[in-house]
Amino acid sequence: MVTKQLRSSGGVWLSVGKTNLYIDPGPGALVRCLNSKPKLEPSMLDAILLTHKHLDHSGDVNVLIEAMTEGGFKKRGVLFAPKDALDEDPVVLKYLRNYVEKVEVLKENSEYRIGEIQFSTAQKHQHRVETYGINFKISPHTISLIADTKFFPDLPTLYRGEILIIHVVRLKPVVDEPIEHLSIEDVKTIVKKVKPRLTILTHFGMTMIKAKPWVVAAELEKELGLRVIAASDGMKIDLEEV
Ligand SMILES: [Zn+2]
Repeated sequence: MVTKQLRSSGGVWLSVGKTNLYIDPGPGALVRCLNSKPKLEPSMLDAILLTHKHLDHSGDVNVLIEAMTEGGFKKRGVLFAPKDALDEDPVVLKYLRNYVEKVEVLKENSEYRIGEIQFSTAQKHQHRVETYGINFKISPHTISLIADTKFFPDLPTLYRGEILIIHVVRLKPVVDEPIEHLSIEDVKTIVKKVKPRLTILTHFGMTMIKAKPWVVAAELEKELGLRVIAASDGMKIDLEEV
């Protein structure tokens, strides 16, 4: 999906009060920001967060650090990233790390704060590289983001946000799949347990795209009796209206 750009891979911009956080700036993140209407101005960012180092989640992290810090002229902002995104075979260039005010290493079951956004990690995901899902507390709202992972029994209990964003790559489960991702079957299991007010499916692979994500979401919604939507490029969700 990413190399063909059948869907854009820019990630998510979270804005709460005066605080702006960019989550998973994949390839195209900067261009998507500047082309969006109204324009999203990266120099307004307070932080960038990587759930993991895979390229579809981090491809634009360096250029976005440049943009957030105005080419390094304004030392500002925080980068949140797992250790392996910084250490071995890093995805964040070393010379850029001085541009930000702080690099905070994401760890299991830890709490973080940037301005008006509080968030915590749960246990490590099963996804080859160090990967974390995030629970955001943006009072009075809670948002859970289940980033790439293979399904494991504790997964639903870790993410209980009233809004649930799930990375669902596959329509059907693949047995012994080497690249660990969730399928719609896994989503059903999770949503049945968590019963979020709104579930947003995103991060689709080819089988999901072929099945038309909005159709899959509508079927899920009917089956589960809970609101489920499929993300689309440039989609904006107003927390006050959920
Ligand atoms: Zn991944």
